[in-house]
Amino acid sequence: MAKKEKSYEGCAVGIDLGTTYSCVAVWLDEHNRVEIIHNDQGNRITPSFVSFKDDQRLIGDAALHQAASNPTNTVFDAKRLIGRKFSDSVIQNDLNLWPFKVISGVHDKPMIVVQYKGEEKHFCAEEISSMVLRKMREVAEKFVEFPVKNVVVTVPAYFNDSQRKATIDAGAMAGLNVIRMINEPTAAALAYGLNKRTKCAGENNIFVFDLGGGTFDASALTIKDNVFQVKATAGNTHLGGEDFDNRMVNYFVEELKRKNKIDISGNPKSLRRLRTACERAKRTLSFVSVTTIEVDYLFQGFDFSSSITRAKFEEISADLFKECMEIVKSCLVDAGMNKSNVNDVVIVGGSSRIPKVQQLLQEYFNGKDLCMSINPDEAVAYGAAVQAALLSKGFQNVPNLVLRDVAPLSLGMVTIGDVMSVVIPRNTCIPVKITKSFLTVKDNQSQVLIEVYEGERTRASDNNLLGSFTLSGIPPSPRGYSFNVCFAIDENGILTVSATDNSTGNMNEITINHYKESLSTKKIKKALEEGEKYKVEDEKFLRKASVMNALDLSVYNMKNALKNDDNLELTPQESEKINNAITMGMNLLDGNSREKDIGFLEGHQKKLDNLLKLIKAKTSNENNHKFSLFRYSFW
Ligand code: AMP
Repeated sequence: MAKKEKSYEGCAVGIDLGTTYSCVAVWLDEHNRVEIIHNDQGNRITPSFVSFKDDQRLIGDAALHQAASNPTNTVFDAKRLIGRKFSDSVIQNDLNLWPFKVISGVHDKPMIVVQYKGEEKHFCAEEISSMVLRKMREVAEKFVEFPVKNVVVTVPAYFNDSQRKATIDAGAMAGLNVIRMINEPTAAALAYGLNKRTKCAGENNIFVFDLGGGTFDASALTIKDNVFQVKATAGNTHLGGEDFDNRMVNYFVEELKRKNKIDISGNPKSLRRLRTACERAKRTLSFVSVTTIEVDYLFQGFDFSSSITRAKFEEISADLFKECMEIVKSCLVDAGMNKSNVNDVVIVGGSSRIPKVQQLLQEYFNGKDLCMSINPDEAVAYGAAVQAALLSKGFQNVPNLVLRDVAPLSLGMVTIGDVMSVVIPRNTCIPVKITKSFLTVKDNQSQVLIEVYEGERTRASDNNLLGSFTLSGIPPSPRGYSFNVCFAIDENGILTVSATDNSTGNMNEITINHYKESLSTKKIKKALEEGEKYKVEDEKFLRKASVMNALDLSVYNMKNALKNDDNLELTPQESEKINNAITMGMNLLDGNSREKDIGFLEGHQKKLDNLLKLIKAKTSNENNHKFSLFRYSFW
C-alpha cells in the first residue's frame, strides 16, 4: 500500500528510445542504484517494433517475432523517420529497404501505411514512437507498481530541432511528460561517471563513441568534481547497425541474382527474412571469423544457404566505418581536445561491439584500451534514470551531478544575399540565450520576415529551414533601422526565437516546432486518446485470448473427466446437459465462431468448471449416495 501513496515525482524513470531497441531504467533511491527493468518477456531491451494484424496490435518482442510473417504491417525505424520530411533524401534512400509502405502526407510529412483490423491506417513516426514509449511506460509501471508520468527520454546528440520536438510530441502522445530530453552520449557519460565515481580525481577528458542501431554520436566531455561538461558533439543521425545490415542484405541479394538467378529485391517477405538472418550473422561475426546464413523457403520454395567472412563484412562496410572515424576526428577538433589528452574512450551502442570499429578506434587513440565497463545496450537508459532522479524531488541518495550539454548545430537566420547569419554557433553550451541586432534593408520597410535555419553551410538555403515569422509595425524610416533578434535554447535543446523593435516595443516570437508539419496540441490530444483506445483494444484482445485458453482447458478437462471415469453414472438428462455444454464450448473455440463477447465466453467457461466440479463431487459421492447434478442452479 505504501508504494501506491508515492507521488509521481517519487519515481525517476529514464527511457532510451532506440532505433532498433529501447530500454527503460529506474533510480532506486533506497538501494542507491539504477535498475534496468525487464520487459514481460524477461528481456532488458525491447525491440522498437509495432505490428498490426487483423485482430490485434503487437509491440516489442512479439512484434519483432512475427515481422517475417507480416512484413508489410510490421513497423520499425520510426526514429529514422521522426522529424524529417518525406522528400528528405535520407527517407527517399530508405524507402526501398522498408517492407512497409511510407507515403507523403500533409506538408510533406512521411506517413506509414498499414492494414489494421481490416482498414487502411496511416500513422506518422511520432505515433509509432509513442506506441513504443507507451510499452516502455507499461514495463516501468509493472515494476514500480504505480503510474509513471514524468520521464527523461534520450535522443541522439546530433538530432536537430525538428527531431527533438517530434520526440517530445511522441512522449505526449504516450501520456508521458518528458521532463527533460538528454543526449544519448551524455547519458552514457553519466553512467560511466557514476561507475567510476570513486576512481575519478581531478579533471578527466572522456570521449564517448555511441554507435547504435540507426544513429552515430560522438561526444567529448570533461568531468571535474561533479560537473559533466560536454565540449563538443558530432554525429550522423542515419548511420548505425541497420546500415551494416543493409550492406549485407544487398550483398546477398546480388549473390542470389548471380549464383541462383533469383531476384528477391521486390519481395518484402523474403527481404525481411534475409534481413533478420543478416542481422544475426553480423552479430555472430563479432565473435567468429566466418558464419553461415540459412533461410529455408526464402523465395518460391528455394532454401537459401551461404556464408560470409568477417573480412568480407568489413570490406562491404568499410566506407561506413571510415565515416565514423571522420566524425570522431571532427568532434575532437571542435572540442579543442588532443587525442593524447583523452583519459578514457567509452564505447556504447550495440554496434560498438563490431571488432573492426573497436580496432579503428583503438588505433586512432594510439592503442589506448577502450572502456567497456558499462553495458553498451543499457548505459544510455541508465544515465537517463540518473538524470530523472536529479530532476525529481525527494531523493536522498542521488549523487549531486551537474550536466552541461551543447547545441549540436549552428542556428541563425537568413540575411541579404541568402547568407546564413549565425546567432548560436554549434557546440555552444545550453541553455543559452543570445541577442543580435539586425538592420532593415529597404527604406520605409514596415515589416521583416525572420527565417530561422540550422546547419553549418554559409548559404542559408543549403541549411535546414526550421520556421519563419514576421516582425511588423516598424515605423517609416530609412534603411538601416535596427531591431533585435533573440535565440534561446532550453535544456531540452528546443529553440525559441523572438524579434523586438526596441523603439516601439513591438515583439513577435515562435517556438520552432519543426516547421509546418509539427503536430498541433489538438492532434497530440487526439493521438493520445487513440493511444488509450488502442491500449484498451489490446487489453481486450489479451483478455479474450486468456479466456479462450481457459475455455480450451475447461473443455479438455471435462472431456477427460468423462472419458476416464467409468464409474460415473449419469442420467440421460445430465449427459445431454454436459454434452451440450462441451459442444457449445467447442463451437466457441472454433476459429469461425462469431461470438465476440468476452463476458459470455467467461460465463460459459465458468459453467464448464462448475459442471466439472459437480462431476467430480458426484464421482466421490457415487458410492455413498446418489447426487443430482441439478441440485445446483448453475445453468
Ligand atoms: P542499440 O541501438 O544501441 O540498441 O544497438 C542496436 C544495434 O546493435 C543493432 O543494429 C544490432 O544489430 C547491433 N548489435 C548488437 N549486438 C551486436 C554485436 N554483437 N555485433 C554487432 N552488432 C551488434
